Amino acid sequence: MDISGSKQFESEVIGVISRTKDVISVRFRRPDGFDYLSGQWAFVSVGSEKGQEMKPLSLSSSPTESFIEFTKRLTGHVFSNAFAAMKVGDKALINGPRGKLTLPSDYKKICMLSGGIGIYALAQRDQILYRHAAKNQHSPSLFQSF
Ligand SMILES: Cc1cc2nc3c(=O)[nH]c(=O)nc-3n(C[C@H](O)[C@H](O)[C@H](O)COP(=O)(O)OP(=O)(O)OC[C@H]3O[C@@H](n4cnc5c(N)ncnc54)[C@H](O)[C@@H]3O)c2cc1C
Repeated sequence: MDISGSKQFESEVIGVISRTKDVISVRFRRPDGFDYLSGQWAFVSVGSEKGQEMKPLSLSSSPTESFIEFTKRLTGHVFSNAFAAMKVGDKALINGPRGKLTLPSDYKKICMLSGGIGIYALAQRDQILYRHAAKNQHSPSLFQSF
């Protein structure tokens, strides 16, 4: 994977949240200068018994929050196990932010469709969606979520 051309940050874990039996969120201190938009993602590199393992993960925190968060579906594979084993104080390399799938501000209504763990890429937009809905005087609806 070519990860040249964007900024690399080191950050430490400040919290781990179990979302379901096979989904966890890991929160990191937000590095100085880590400015991102809702919908962006980063390469997250963590230490495992086999060395450094890296995967692209969507930011599941909102850009308005003081921490950054990634949410991973646990698969029992090497990166997944290393991510799931992270505890407060552990460090990871975060290469990003990346991606252009960000929320447009000039549309009255927005429809987003996602499946599986992809819901977390949309979850970070909650606050922004609610603000957008309030501004345009309609209510956001979640049709179905499993
Ligand atoms: C932009 C972007 C954002 C993403 N955001 C998220 C996110 O927020 N949360 C999230 O959980 N995931 C996200 N993903 C997916 C994530 O990067 C991982 O691919 C995914 O979570 C699986 O990783 P893993 O290490 O658990 O499993 P992997 O070990 O990568 O396994 C995934 C599948 O590939 C198969 N596989 C692995 N190696 C091989 C091989 N050598 N040959 C054939 N098959 C193989 C496995 O059997 C399995 O079915 C994102 C991906 C992208 C591109």
